[in-house]
Amino acid sequence: MARYTDSVCRMCRREGTKLFLKGEKCFSSKCAMEKRPTSPGQHGQGRRMKKPSEYGLQLREKQKVRRAYGLMEGQFKRTFEKAEGMKGITGENLLQLLERRLDNVVYRSGLANSRAQARQFVCHGLITVSGRKVDIPSYITDAGDVIGIKETRKDMEHFKIVKEGINRVVPEWIATDAETLTAKIEALPKREDIDLTLQENMIVEFYSR
Ligand code: SF4
Repeated sequence: MARYTDSVCRMCRREGTKLFLKGEKCFSSKCAMEKRPTSPGQHGQGRRMKKPSEYGLQLREKQKVRRAYGLMEGQFKRTFEKAEGMKGITGENLLQLLERRLDNVVYRSGLANSRAQARQFVCHGLITVSGRKVDIPSYITDAGDVIGIKETRKDMEHFKIVKEGINRVVPEWIATDAETLTAKIEALPKREDIDLTLQENMIVEFYSR
């Protein structure tokens, strides 16, 4: 499977915004966006100063969302096509599908520090959905699902720290229980529950060209 192997902080610098890809580091002064918020590369500064075209703006918005959720182009396009086939507004459907991915829910609920770590937990078989092991990061969760940690892995150092207090703000559509290390999906996420700075309509325009 294709995998991004370059420095992930470069992606934040390229998109000109924090994508929160490195867990705790993103909230510290070590964050590359705090130290060097310019575009990467020799001509990074100049690239930022040029007025982008309509297409350029749409492309950047698509790349920003795709990178934030850690998807490769093909996966992202397939998710978009699935969103298009659903009832309702395509852009909102897309964001909802991305939020409902199992790796995202593990991250959002505070069981992992980043989506990359969450994906690793899922792939390594540490995560259960309503008591059943699920090792597919793109698995789409549903209202009522209870995400948990495999019993034999709960004594991992990471989960001991999580147990001491899930310290990230958890969105309202997820109810976490630090004691049992579980997260219940109370309801499907609505548009207002998802990052309001994202302009999903630009992604729809990008793929409609
Ligand atoms: Fe982005 Fe996090 Fe790296 Fe900062 S530390 S540049 S937010 S990935």
